Amino acid sequence: MKESFIIAIDGASSTGKSTLAKGLARELGFVYVDSGAMYRGITLYAQQQQWLTETHFDKEKLVSNLDDVQLSFAHNSLLLNGKDVSQEIRSMQVANAVSNVAAISEVRTFLVAQQRILGTQESIVMDGRDIGTVVFPNANIKFFLTANATIRAQRRFEELKAVEPNITFEAIFENITRRDHLDSTRADSPLIQAKDAIVLDATKFNVDEMLEYALTLIKDY
Ligand code: C5P
Repeated sequence: MKESFIIAIDGASSTGKSTLAKGLARELGFVYVDSGAMYRGITLYAQQQQWLTETHFDKEKLVSNLDDVQLSFAHNSLLLNGKDVSQEIRSMQVANAVSNVAAISEVRTFLVAQQRILGTQESIVMDGRDIGTVVFPNANIKFFLTANATIRAQRRFEELKAVEPNITFEAIFENITRRDHLDSTRADSPLIQAKDAIVLDATKFNVDEMLEYALTLIKDY
């Protein structure tokens, strides 16, 4: 394999991208980068500053202060200005607002530059929505995950109910279908399948089978 091998994994919300990405990173000794966590980190920052509330979003304030947002990863935890926010970025409050933040071109430019730097430093597995299309169009291998929305919502519900006991399946279903719509219809870097991506239907494989299959494909590269 070449130096700095890049695996791009894209797909809609809760298709199992991060599970596959973490499994591949573990098996191959690569670094895992969760690009969605970075969009969630900026969203949390805007909420902490009160620039983004349920009724109001001061986009200009966020865009003009982006340089104050420092994001980094430490052992798969996201640090926002040095503080571990891995739990907070998974809240429904962040999930409900993140796609509006991710639609802002200045936010995307800011994060894509950082994501590309990560890819020049070491071999990585990065998951997101535009990794194979925009961030790394020349990635060594690209996967595009799909799965039926009910199954995806059920999976996310099982994960979230331990941390948010009041959460309902309906609220999650609504959140992921709305995010899919916003993510695939936005003007800048919408969620679309790269022409050279390998499509994996997560409804047809369990987690281990998916990992096994992806590893088999990667070994051919
Ligand atoms: O992957 P995750 O579901 O945590 O991503 C949260 C949100 O961040 C997505 O719904 C999308 O709006 C945005 N995102 C993006 N581009 C990426 C990764 C995530 O727009 N590469």
